[in-house]
Amino acid sequence: MTLAHFLDGLRCSVYHTLNTLWLDPARALVECRECGQSAHVTTDDGRTA
Ligand SMILES: [Zn+2]
Repeated sequence: MTLAHFLDGLRCSVYHTLNTLWLDPARALVECRECGQSAHVTTDDGRTA
């Protein structure tokens, strides 16, 4: 069972760091391991995921 699922190619919406976001399926949210934000996710082409 996978608890954390890293999201390749996604950037933190706060610091715009790449590949620091991971999906927590238990809580159904995406969190940044750098700054701890669990909010919006943006892709490289600017879409909101
Ligand atoms: Zn962050």
